[in-house]
Amino acid sequence: MKLLPALLFLLCSPAPAAAADGLGAQPQIRVAISRNSPALKLKTSAKLYVQEVKSGQKYMLLADASYEVKADGRGIAVAGQALSSPIKLLAADGQERIRLGGNLYKGDILLRATPEGKLDIIEYLSLEDYLQGVLPSEMSPDWPLEALKAQAVASRTYALRYINPARDYDVTDGVEMQVYKGTAKISPRIIEAVNSTRGEVLKYKGKLVSAFFHACCGGHTASVRSAWGEDIIKPLYGAPDPFCSPSRHYRWEYYLASSELLKYIQAAGSTALKVKSLRIHKKDRSGRAVSFLVGTDKGSKTVQATEMRKRFGTFEFRSVYITSITPVKGGFELAGRGWGHGVGMCQEGAKYMAMKGRPYKKILRHYYPGAAILDHE
Ligand SMILES: [Zn+2]
Repeated sequence: MKLLPALLFLLCSPAPAAAADGLGAQPQIRVAISRNSPALKLKTSAKLYVQEVKSGQKYMLLADASYEVKADGRGIAVAGQALSSPIKLLAADGQERIRLGGNLYKGDILLRATPEGKLDIIEYLSLEDYLQGVLPSEMSPDWPLEALKAQAVASRTYALRYINPARDYDVTDGVEMQVYKGTAKISPRIIEAVNSTRGEVLKYKGKLVSAFFHACCGGHTASVRSAWGEDIIKPLYGAPDPFCSPSRHYRWEYYLASSELLKYIQAAGSTALKVKSLRIHKKDRSGRAVSFLVGTDKGSKTVQATEMRKRFGTFEFRSVYITSITPVKGGFELAGRGWGHGVGMCQEGAKYMAMKGRPYKKILRHYYPGAAILDHE
């Protein structure tokens, strides 16, 4: 087994400013790129530096080496060397980016010991740089530029609502928020989409809109209330969408086995032994199912549509926009429309609007009616 190389102590420079300070007027964002890791292997492809934020002391990590990093009480141990938390990773001289877990990051990377004795890795970067990383993960980079610009404004607005200095970081990097995997997939079109809409956000009555978006609405977007019970505002009320019908996600079918449905309602407390029927119990204004009624040998059971979708998998059970349920051998054939929760911008519709020559502001006004597109100050 290869021994871990020791840290090379470099110099004691003056304590640097805290990472969030001195970053200029541009909005900054803190992205948790890894949370609650007990320990991690830091593999370097180039020379790197580790700096204690408090003391400013800087240590060198060699290129093409592997270092064990773990929380050590309230501090952090790197290759057995106890350092005070947080520590900052700095790119090698002349380099701009840091490679971590296969992704490249251009912001400041901070490692922080959590009160539970785990490690969080947080990237500090400008909101605009972050958006360049988000865009190719949330929309296909070869889609029309006006659709990418609409996505940039929606993603910027969405992210700004989470900026909260009282927390240890603002956003996570996974599907629970917006997918962000560093800077590797940035292309000139992505840069253009972000730069040409720089600072633009969606506001309604002076407040940032919760600028949700989804893959395909199937002909009508959903209201934020029926999707999550949030207070309705005009831009998230739900609107007809004549644009996404050419999408391959516009219509789909899903087979649901009676045996699986039985297991599901039994887990929810039903004593039934046989499922006899399935129908939509309640629909919202857009036509999406709010609840289903499952007929059984022990009477009827009502189940929430979004819960059931989550249980059976949001990739297969693409939306709650169910247009028909047909009993078939051993189960039910569900026909549905669209993919995703349906709130806010329909990305497929945005693509087809852009292909028809609609500019991004028109796309945004279509999907967030009543919202103003303003510079975020
Ligand atoms: Zn649509």
